[in-house]
Amino acid sequence: MKIFLFFPFLPLIISGQFFYTKKHKERYCAREDQRSWSYHGYTNGPTNWPRLFPTCAGNMQSPVDIRTYKVKVDAELSDLRFEGYDTPVTNALVTNNGGTVRITFEDQVRRFISIDNKEYVFQQFHFHWGTARNPGAEHAINGVRETVEIHFVHSNGNSTAVVGTLYKVDSENNPAFWPIVKVLPDIKYKDLSARIKTPFTLSSLLPENRNFYRYVGSLTTPNCQENVIWSVMQDIQNIGYKQLQYFLKLYSVEEQYKSRECHITGNYRPLQRLNGRIIYGSTHI
Ligand SMILES: [Zn+2]
Repeated sequence: MKIFLFFPFLPLIISGQFFYTKKHKERYCAREDQRSWSYHGYTNGPTNWPRLFPTCAGNMQSPVDIRTYKVKVDAELSDLRFEGYDTPVTNALVTNNGGTVRITFEDQVRRFISIDNKEYVFQQFHFHWGTARNPGAEHAINGVRETVEIHFVHSNGNSTAVVGTLYKVDSENNPAFWPIVKVLPDIKYKDLSARIKTPFTLSSLLPENRNFYRYVGSLTTPNCQENVIWSVMQDIQNIGYKQLQYFLKLYSVEEQYKSRECHITGNYRPLQRLNGRIIYGSTHI
């Protein structure tokens, strides 16, 4: 009898739609479902990415869960060098692209990271965030996802190297976030841009301790291009609760389509399998 009663819901449960709908109903923004991909759409959300973008079905995808007991400490792991990260940024453009806040520089300063003596030139940095209660970071450490993750994206020809930094929500504000956070009210809607008014340095957003985890993965948004060299900083920093609220007021849509469901939050991809990949640590952890 029990089985019989259960049966009508079986196809839904098998498809995952039942749980998916329940969990994401509050966040469903119809407008996002019309794009080529989204974080919360029924037809173009992360579970659909592998079908829509074949590279997203690859076996070296990101983000991943970093299980510290499995991390292989590698004394040979070359230093991650940051160049130009201490030079104040005086001309930066902040854009709401509907999925994140992206910051690009127009100050002609040469900024790059160097890995194995190869230079990867800084391109942009952007944010992934959740709420005070819900995680927003992409990489997890021992199964725990923090509130915010920043990705500093660098490239050398066709190769990409991304540095990820993690932030936990805290009652105390993090001064490094203010120059960015203060212009967010000017870019509430998709496709709006604003200039940062207060000079800041990239290194102010990095932890003092530069130990990192290293693995080879992918971009975390379609087309999920692989062979991205990831360096996830080991130390977790803070973002103020008040500062996080500025991010939560942003919309993923243009002004005329704004609705409560179309705020940007939870803009992270679910964890991907390691498929035998090894995560290295720059020192003892
Ligand atoms: Zn990212």
